Amino acid sequence: MSILQMPWSKAKPLLDTLRSEVKSSGLWSPQLAKEYGGLGLSNGDFGKVSEILGMSPIGHYVFNCQAPDAGNMEILLEFGSEAQKATYLQPLSEGKIRSCFSMTEPENAGSNPVLMNTTAIKEGNEYVINGHKWFTSSADGADFAIVMVITDRTNISPYHRSSQIIVPLNTAGVHIVRNISVMGDAGDGYFSHSEIKYENCRVPVSNLLGNEGDGFTIAQSRLGPGRIHHCMRWIGICERAFDMMCRYAVSRQLSPGKSLAEKQTIQNWIAECRAEINAARLLVLDAAGKMDINGQEKAKVEISIIKFYVANVLQHVLDKAIQTHGALGITDDTLLSWWYRHERGARIYDGPDEVHKSRVAREILKSYTT
Ligand SMILES: Cc1cc2nc3c(=O)[nH]c(=O)nc-3n(C[C@H](O)[C@H](O)[C@H](O)COP(=O)(O)OP(=O)(O)OC[C@H]3O[C@@H](n4cnc5c(N)ncnc54)[C@H](O)[C@@H]3O)c2cc1C
Repeated sequence: MSILQMPWSKAKPLLDTLRSEVKSSGLWSPQLAKEYGGLGLSNGDFGKVSEILGMSPIGHYVFNCQAPDAGNMEILLEFGSEAQKATYLQPLSEGKIRSCFSMTEPENAGSNPVLMNTTAIKEGNEYVINGHKWFTSSADGADFAIVMVITDRTNISPYHRSSQIIVPLNTAGVHIVRNISVMGDAGDGYFSHSEIKYENCRVPVSNLLGNEGDGFTIAQSRLGPGRIHHCMRWIGICERAFDMMCRYAVSRQLSPGKSLAEKQTIQNWIAECRAEINAARLLVLDAAGKMDINGQEKAKVEISIIKFYVANVLQHVLDKAIQTHGALGITDDTLLSWWYRHERGARIYDGPDEVHKSRVAREILKSYTT
């Protein structure tokens, strides 16, 4: 049975063995600063590693650079107090615990994150948190969540009303309602997305990240690198699916001596997919390079472009690889159907396609209207 078909309790020990091997080989946490045991790679260099790891659904997890932990490590490194780093970043960087990021709410449009109901009210030395979140990826079995909450509803700027607070998931009042069934599969452990209720959860005020009102500034800081990581991981998936498509095309015989690869339609798909993957990679490396040199703000158009462009290339390549495989393509005997189910979300999370396209167009049009 493949690791992906096992319950998390069975998969985890196998993955732990692989993680130990990666640690011994000195390749652990390639994205993380050297002081925390990582390799300290730039966005551009980690992007190239991310492509290779993306060829396996467990690649990033085994190297301890998986979402959402990688993003949370970045947040803690940049905004965490020394005590928060010792309690949360250190064990996360060592792969001893997992974490999650809890922002989206079922009642509000996630594409407009200023719409949020979850609150944290200060009472003495504690915050009391109440709210309802969903699609908190990998919450099942995680040690803590970074929760986006409203701390000051009266602030004139909606972007300064919210904060990020660390909530250990064993805090009284944290209820994981369910792992949400996505495309027929609720998953468990790392491979799941939870609906969570926070009911009168009390955490010390020292669990606040940065200052009150910094929630969006912090969220913004993790978006750029996160998008590069996702996009390069998707390119890794594309390469694997493309390779499977080509291998199958030459091996599948439609009639004696005549393979699928001789059909022009399949040839068109192979040529188009090759061009799209190459273009996608160059776009991502260009965005990563600009971000490394000029910072996230100056690379925001490039980052939005790759987010929607690569997510669509991924959908297209997976679809063509499945079609080439015929009925086999939709079975779970190959990885294609797993990716098809699990990566449809790529066009939705970290900003749906439409939001990024609109942002790109508005930036471009600025120079035509001023
Ligand atoms: C696999 C997956 C993992 C996720 N993991 C996490 C996580 O770990 N933590 C977390 O907090 N959240 C997570 N999310 C939630 C994700 O961030 C939201 O789904 C996303 O922000 C979109 O919000 P929404 O689903 O509420 O869609 P809505 O905001 O309701 O939008 C619905 C649709 O409307 C369209 N739309 C929206 N805005 C515009 C616009 N301006 N112009 C034109 N069309 C528009 C888009 O087509 C969009 O898909 C995850 C989601 C998925 C699918």
